[in-house]
Amino acid sequence: MSAKLLDGKAVAEQENGRTRERVEALAARGITPGLATVLVGDNPASRVYVANKRKTCKKLGIASIDADLPADASEQQLLETVARLNADSRVHGLLVQMPLPSHIDDHKVLEAIDPRKDVDGFHPQNVGLLALGRPWIIPCTTQGILRLLERAEYGIAGKNAVIVGRSNIVGKPTALLLLALHATVTLCHTRTRDLPGLVGRADLVVAAMGRPEAIRGDWVAEGAAVIDVGINRVGEKLVGDVEFAAARERAGLITPVPGGVGPMTIAMLMENTVSLAERAH
Ligand code: NDP
Repeated sequence: MSAKLLDGKAVAEQENGRTRERVEALAARGITPGLATVLVGDNPASRVYVANKRKTCKKLGIASIDADLPADASEQQLLETVARLNADSRVHGLLVQMPLPSHIDDHKVLEAIDPRKDVDGFHPQNVGLLALGRPWIIPCTTQGILRLLERAEYGIAGKNAVIVGRSNIVGKPTALLLLALHATVTLCHTRTRDLPGLVGRADLVVAAMGRPEAIRGDWVAEGAAVIDVGINRVGEKLVGDVEFAAARERAGLITPVPGGVGPMTIAMLMENTVSLAERAH
């Protein structure tokens, strides 16, 4: 069997189309949604991500408010930038690109973002609301995964979902949302015993480890849905956390890298920005 490919690029285009219609409806009321992106330093991957976010804003008619700080900017300078953007009425969504240089406390910075403008959903207040099942905003990558599954008409309730990676930005919020949607969730990490066995019993696998092709194709159960969040540069190539070619032979649904979850994350960032602008007005 060869799995059906979940084409994140195509689905993201459709979602962006819907977002553009909402932007136009706001424009008719004299409102331009605005996304502020703060980039500190010159991490090459972060530069690419932020450039993509800013470019997509422009494509959809969302104002991009850009704040770039040098790698040696102090924590105080960054906190002042966040405070300025919190107070700026053009800004409906505000994100600070991670990772930050090591001399800056990222918890302090995330806590400084106005929770109502917290477009990534990483502020402790929004993490708490998500855990309580009353989300104000859903983190973009998690929302992108769920939307892809929804558009493929994949039913989550009752499924055994195995998530590999427990980060605050991907693994944990995805576990909470899948649980809220009535999956039975197993959240794995580096101390997990028998990862191949757990993956082999999963109906739905979400790989978010940052380890090139660490999930071997022959671990995957016949017919499983495989969502690969990983983005790893191997030489000139980008590969995911799943051994794609072999996994595709066994899975029922699978996302490619690139062109899977990546474009969906950006589309959901745009959607979150517009939702925050609608709520602000
Ligand atoms: P982190 O490095 O923050 O977390 C990685 C997680 O994977 C950790 O919980 C770690 O476990 C676990 N892990 C690592 N190696 C193994 C292993 N061999 N076995 C089991 N668990 C393991 O990563 P992120 O969550 O930030 O990102 C994960 C990947 O997703 C990266 O490739 C990143 O580039 C990509 N990404 C893609 C996005 C997209 O839009 N497509 C968005 C965000 C991230 P432990 O906690 O024990 O250390």
